[in-house]
Amino acid sequence: MSWEDNVRRVTPYVPGEQPGDSERVIKLNTNEMPYPPSPKVDMALKAYDAAALRLYPAADVAPLRDALAARYGFSADEVFVGVGSDDVLSMAFLTFFNSDKPVIFPDITYSFYDVWADVYRIKYEIKPLDKDFRIVKSDYMCENGGIVIANPNAPTGISQAEDISFIEDIVSANPQSVVIVDEAYVDFGGSTALGLVKKYDNILVVRTFSKSRAFAGMRIGFAIGCPKMIKYLNDVKYSVNSYTMNRPAIDLGLASLSDDEYFEKTVNAVIRTREWTKTELRSRGFAVTDSKTNFVFASPSSISAKELFEKLRERGIYVRWWDKDRLRDWLRISVGTDEEMKVLIENIDTITASKG
Ligand SMILES: *Cc1c(COP(=O)(O)O)cnc(C)c1O
Repeated sequence: MSWEDNVRRVTPYVPGEQPGDSERVIKLNTNEMPYPPSPKVDMALKAYDAAALRLYPAADVAPLRDALAARYGFSADEVFVGVGSDDVLSMAFLTFFNSDKPVIFPDITYSFYDVWADVYRIKYEIKPLDKDFRIVKSDYMCENGGIVIANPNAPTGISQAEDISFIEDIVSANPQSVVIVDEAYVDFGGSTALGLVKKYDNILVVRTFSKSRAFAGMRIGFAIGCPKMIKYLNDVKYSVNSYTMNRPAIDLGLASLSDDEYFEKTVNAVIRTREWTKTELRSRGFAVTDSKTNFVFASPSSISAKELFEKLRERGIYVRWWDKDRLRDWLRISVGTDEEMKVLIENIDTITASKG
């Protein structure tokens, strides 16, 4: 008998590679924003008084929570804030998925969902996307202990809801379980399910500052749901760690929220660059999904995805490739600046030319 027999073992989530600051690479592998946060964030950071760090932060994250509530048209008791949406999602799994019935989510989606289910010992069942990487709605109309949908989905980039009734049908068919809608990428052209929160008490919409607000390094995420749901989430949060959000995160998050103009300008720049990249890749014979996110999901025709991934890496361009069924032929390429994407396309041309 060893203490190791009692370890809570889990196979961890594998994040994209973060090169050291000194390495000069074009980093298109973790869906970070290519532009910095708002200049207002820069100003707030430079003016930051270290003396404030002596004090514990607001346990209820009130300043940021209230600003988010105002920004999205909700009341403070409908908003929960966490350390990135990973923290929010993890807390939501722990709080709401406590049934003998399985939680359901697609085979191809954010690869953290099964990891949280495993670490918390939550039963789950995988529902395959169809051949076009779309959710099959009827798969979510069965008995379940919860539902998780990323919309737009990752790594496909596909938005499931030109018309939000797609999500509404799933939420209304499952009043006995919580439906989590992960909207990490919604600001880049998806349609939001936030409107359903007013109508249904079993939907939790999760958002992040990491992508559209260029805050991946700051760690801010939030969830919007009915007051009862937010109270249950807070009960669990206060039972794990009362002070999740540090003072600078709260203050800089407020500064970010105060600059809608910059937010829209940078998000629109990414959308334009994404559409340009899709066109360039399609004209080179790639299959490209209709991504509504800050990445493109593309499958090359004249070279394997794996080889292209490796060759790009040798040239200092990092993209993401998974050695997994149904994903092996595809690359997920984060949208960088126009210049970075031009360099990407030039390198793809050089690599594929030397093939044939
Ligand atoms: C990036 C991402 C997250 C996590 O983002 P945080 O940095 O933890 O806020 C959650 N869900 C999806 C689908 C993502 O792509």
